Amino acid sequence: IFPIFLHMFLSGSTAYITLPSILIAGPPGAGKTALVTRLERRAPKPATTYTSQTTNIVELAVNEDGTSKYSDDLDASGAVAKKFLVVDTPGHGKLRGATLAKLTSASSTASDTKLRAVVYMVDSAALAEDGGIAAAASYLYDILLALQKRMGAGNSSKAPPAIPVLVAANKADLFTALPAALIKTQLEAELGRIRTSRSKGLLSSGVGADDIDSANESDEWLGEYGSKAFHFAQMREFDIEVDVVAGNVVGGDGSGPGVDKWWKWIADKV
Ligand code: GDP
Repeated sequence: IFPIFLHMFLSGSTAYITLPSILIAGPPGAGKTALVTRLERRAPKPATTYTSQTTNIVELAVNEDGTSKYSDDLDASGAVAKKFLVVDTPGHGKLRGATLAKLTSASSTASDTKLRAVVYMVDSAALAEDGGIAAAASYLYDILLALQKRMGAGNSSKAPPAIPVLVAANKADLFTALPAALIKTQLEAELGRIRTSRSKGLLSSGVGADDIDSANESDEWLGEYGSKAFHFAQMREFDIEVDVVAGNVVGGDGSGPGVDKWWKWIADKV
């Protein structure tokens, strides 16, 4: 049954999806598979991960008031639990289209989609390396723009349910990891650069300036239209909250903040 279920999910049909879901995205090597495995096993030691080319879905649960820890065994305690799905998407560039399509398709059928939030995972140590920020920002740009368009799409007066984004700054256990506050400002600066270069692309695409449909151009502009610098706070205009929170999947207790804050963030959204 599982492959059929997966097929239904990827083909955009939500007929079989009844549980709220959280989408995990991000560049390869960020630790997405490690996170999902750790949450699924409710144990700090994740299994060795493999390079996944496919979407990996696990079912998790949090107690009714959202206060249980990821490590709590709700079955054993007999607690009434809210079940939800965590969908780990492949980070490989060629496979991103399917993930983005999922975000936009969530728009047209707002009532039958249960996508509650996106966790965008980055490797906080890789961000300090050359080209690290650029690699992490370009996919994030596409995701935020897809969510922004989703809020603007459709002609019904009813806005689709908001989908918040958590930038999970992973590998905080590594001493080379950038702190979350710096990751936030560096990502904002890079997203601003991408925005500028893409809008220039529109202008120099061979179309005369008069032909440019300004409504169209603003559709492709991330955040507050015409603003000089990009800030995540601009996404609020589209009802999209973005939080940047540090954590680590691997590493013993005490080596970093762990996954508790991410779990709490997720538990609040499902
Ligand atoms: P994915 O491509 O995003 O699914 O990334 P993986 O889950 O395969 O992780 C990539 C590598 O990063 C693996 O070797 C993980 O063990 C490692 N990794 C994941 N999380 C952490 C972390 O919090 N700290 C450290 N030091 N390594 C991590």
